[in-house]
Amino acid sequence: ETAAAPHTPCFKKLSLTTWIFIALVLGVVVGFFMQGAPDVASTYIKPFGTIFLNLLKFICVPLVLFSIICGVISLDDARKVGSIGGKTIVLYLLTTVFAVVIGLVFANVLNVGAGYTLSAEELSYEAAEAPTFMDTLVNIFPSNFLDPMVQATMLQVIVIALFFGFGIMFVGQKAAIVKDFCIAMSEVCMKVMQGILYLAPLGVFGLLVPVVAINGPDILGPLMWLIAVMAIACVVQVAVVYTCLIKFLALRSPLKFLKGEAPVMSFAFASASSMGTLPINMECAEKMGVSKGVTSFVLPLGATINMDGTSIYQGICAVFIAQVFGIDLSIGAQVTIVLTALLASIGTAGVPGSGMIMLALVLGSVGLPLEGIALVAGVDRILDMLRTTVNVTGDGAVAQVVDAMEKRKLSKRQPTDEGAPKAA
Ligand code: ASP
Repeated sequence: ETAAAPHTPCFKKLSLTTWIFIALVLGVVVGFFMQGAPDVASTYIKPFGTIFLNLLKFICVPLVLFSIICGVISLDDARKVGSIGGKTIVLYLLTTVFAVVIGLVFANVLNVGAGYTLSAEELSYEAAEAPTFMDTLVNIFPSNFLDPMVQATMLQVIVIALFFGFGIMFVGQKAAIVKDFCIAMSEVCMKVMQGILYLAPLGVFGLLVPVVAINGPDILGPLMWLIAVMAIACVVQVAVVYTCLIKFLALRSPLKFLKGEAPVMSFAFASASSMGTLPINMECAEKMGVSKGVTSFVLPLGATINMDGTSIYQGICAVFIAQVFGIDLSIGAQVTIVLTALLASIGTAGVPGSGMIMLALVLGSVGLPLEGIALVAGVDRILDMLRTTVNVTGDGAVAQVVDAMEKRKLSKRQPTDEGAPKAA
């Protein structure tokens, strides 16, 4: 955070979050007044939204490729710390699956998008046929290295990243230069992504004006409900899933955990970045008594691959977009969403707005219109604040559990070690 100089013009003092909120309100107001001229909105304002979406799509491939390779490379540490790595990954996967399921259940039960229906022509969307689950499974595996990058088929990019990550890890010292390159590229991609996100206010404005001009302000009704459903699901994830983890697996007090985690949660809410919140999360975990070894492995890995809030968001948005476009999501499609949201959340970088990029992967996997992202983009910052808060809390909760388990294991071992050492 840089403090503003006394003579800084006031518009420069506003944070990106504030600018996005301003763009959101302006987009609604301008769109409202342009209801008589929706063509003008589509011709002259929508392209700015399209440019923003194009840029997001462009950075998506390298960002996912390098952040996943780096995630796998960091498993090298997991091998060294052995059981810590295994427990951490199992807990991260489990909490994420719970998160998507909670998101899907609440979105379905509370009818997240039922308040409003867009006709397909209004967003010039041509209904695509949803691939079957088996097609999706087969399509995960690429037959070519470059094609997935060019076509931006993200599942295949993720698979390539996993293979290369493990390749680099197993080659070891000889691949040191490749490892350094990937780590550097991952940081460069994050920077580029942050730069693109500076255009978010313009993008939000450009995306929202034509939607409101064509559909009227009613669209905010279902968006309000979308935010409310998201908030409810996030509270449930924290109050039920994490509370149970802390109480029954860590055997610690959930209330104490939430109190200790409060600064982390509020910073995540304000910054919408897990990566930015990582140092605070590590500090608070250590203050709550988590050992340094656990903190320094579990939390950075979590900020890279564990995004429970993002998974909730992806489940809810998929159902929202399906309902708004009047598309039926079968149980099979919802199972596909659980799997792809799990992968997508692993590929989501811990910076503002990246969950929205990965939403394309989830929507694409069940044949939902990618244009639907334009509908949720207007309120993405609000949703991002909610999901990031859950993302970091999930990392903190898993760190508590792993720490408690490791300490229990040690205390069980110690009397044996001291008393009667086992024969080898
Ligand atoms: N902003 C989120 C985070 O940093 C990622 C996302 O956009 O979902 O955790």
